[in-house]
Amino acid sequence: MPFTSPFLLPHTKYLSRKAISLLQDSTNLCHLLQIHALIIKTSLHHNPFVLAKLLRRCSSLNPSPVTLSYARSIFDGISSPDAFIWNTMIRAYLNAQDPQESVSLFCRMRLQEGMVVDSFSLSLALQACGRSIDVRMGENIHTHVLKLGFGSDLFVQTAMMEMYAKVGDIKLARSVFDEMPECDLVSYNVLLAEYVRFGDIGSARQLFNMMPDRDLVSWNIMIHGYATSGDLGTARQLFDRSCGRDLVSWSSMITAYARSRQSTEALRLFREMQLSKVVPDGVTMVSVLSACGDVGALTIGKMVHDFIERSGIEVDVKLATSLVDMYAKCGDIENSLKIFNSMNVKDVLNWSAMIMGLAFHGYGEFALDLFSKMISEGIQPNDITFVGVLSACGHVGLVNRGRTYFSSMNDQYGVSPKIEHYGCMVDLLGRAGCLQEARELIRSMPFAPDAVVWRALLGGCKIHKNVELAEEAIINLLELEPHVDGHYVLLSNIYAQGKRWDKVANARKMMRGNSIQKVPGSSSIEVDGAVHEFVAGDKSHPKTEEIYGMLAEMTDRLIHTGFKPMTSLVLQDVDEQAKEDLLAHHSEKLAIAFGLLSTAPQSPIRVVKNLRVCNDCHSAIKLLSIIYDRLIIVRDRNRFHHFSGGFCSCGDYW
Ligand code: ZN
Ligand code: ZN
Repeated sequence: MPFTSPFLLPHTKYLSRKAISLLQDSTNLCHLLQIHALIIKTSLHHNPFVLAKLLRRCSSLNPSPVTLSYARSIFDGISSPDAFIWNTMIRAYLNAQDPQESVSLFCRMRLQEGMVVDSFSLSLALQACGRSIDVRMGENIHTHVLKLGFGSDLFVQTAMMEMYAKVGDIKLARSVFDEMPECDLVSYNVLLAEYVRFGDIGSARQLFNMMPDRDLVSWNIMIHGYATSGDLGTARQLFDRSCGRDLVSWSSMITAYARSRQSTEALRLFREMQLSKVVPDGVTMVSVLSACGDVGALTIGKMVHDFIERSGIEVDVKLATSLVDMYAKCGDIENSLKIFNSMNVKDVLNWSAMIMGLAFHGYGEFALDLFSKMISEGIQPNDITFVGVLSACGHVGLVNRGRTYFSSMNDQYGVSPKIEHYGCMVDLLGRAGCLQEARELIRSMPFAPDAVVWRALLGGCKIHKNVELAEEAIINLLELEPHVDGHYVLLSNIYAQGKRWDKVANARKMMRGNSIQKVPGSSSIEVDGAVHEFVAGDKSHPKTEEIYGMLAEMTDRLIHTGFKPMTSLVLQDVDEQAKEDLLAHHSEKLAIAFGLLSTAPQSPIRVVKNLRVCNDCHSAIKLLSIIYDRLIIVRDRNRFHHFSGGFCSCGDYW
């Protein structure tokens, strides 16, 4: 009979209790290794219970190759693991995105003599089959489930349903669901999410409507489903009706608005989210920053940046890129650069955002220097980078370098030019007067030219007064966009410049005959954290009277300096005075008038316009920058214009 010390048993018990409590408090691998050393030193490594705890703790750490192989070494050291230990290890592989290893462990477990697989093992194995799209194994386990008598186990059946959906058979998933003796909220939500993943929002809605109970997860799945399918209206209805809202609900809705460029609504919702005390995460912030950039809401963007810093949200490469992009798009290129320079790790998206931002502001040389630096740091450029590089050349008229970069895309970097790149090149060549070359490039394109390309050619023709090519571009444009009034305006202007009066009349007739819907020019300006939007001739703003008063003053002072409104830009058949009024009420002028009224003297005025700024406004704003001694920054569809002291940073080259 072996001798047992009366003290040994309680002592071992004490040690194992101590080890387990240490394990429960441990939060990192280093800590675990120390405890493991202690376990070996005190001979507790023969105790399967303690080892199971160690394994469990280890597999609950952030999954990484190191923690996983450590967990596996613990597992391999356990002589006869029980079902709980097997399940822990199978789950660890599942969490570490290695479902194949989970499946193969499950197979080994089944072969183990005397081993009884339980509902956890089956459910984990089914999940692993779904994730690794292993149909055969999945069906195999299905048979096994029935043989072992788990045919009516809710937990296993739900996993089986999900497995069939994940391997692509949503119909079979549905029939598993329909045959389940009882379904709980989890099984409903799993099927709901799978329908949404399949893009079958109709079936998802039917299921949602017949659910006996719904929780926030169900509502969020539907909101996300409608939002990603582009049906923002229904997504919003559900959002407004849903029982409580959490981070997921707010984030889905804000992201959906930001993606569909309904940025003002995205920002309004973000404000409500803050009031409702739900704390946003990095994903929400990326969407909010993109909305800020879209409407040029610098104050809100800065506030979001502050908030990110204060709340300790991790600024990963993606979020940092969003910040760089937001500041650049809001006209604050200094802050954009500051963030860019402060980043330790930069990827291609980050570099591209900065290059694009600099190009957009007209800092072409700087953008190209940055591109060289990026290449020398071994970062492989992508198609977005080259849009930035080619626009950098375009905005400062570097024709030769543009040509070189364009041909290097494929030859040197293996990036095949897309239609955007052709658009940039046609723009660059057209503006520089190489119109025939631009036309040739369009002919040589491997795809049909789009409106952007023709518009670029037309722009060049306008500058260099080439009536024939302009006509060709316009005819193509009118085919692609028959309802855009701007094309007729341009055509008529070109004819007028070439003194082809018969054709001017013709262009006007075409315009009338085509039931033109004007694309409304709209400009927005942010004052005290609120975005104000104006369309041409807008009278909806609460301060309309003051704004028009200011506008009248601006016009008077402009005329005083000898400014002549370019009434030839107006195509409507009205008298001279009415034409002048139409020009004077362009949306960017309204936004500037409001800016002059509502911001402190000498502070910069930032305006964002959805279309290109017209010639008349461009000349007027140059003068307004002297008259009111303000820096006026206008972002139009093409680029930034920094107006100051009577000049524009674009050098009238836009
Ligand atoms: Zn204008
Ligand atoms: Zn300009």
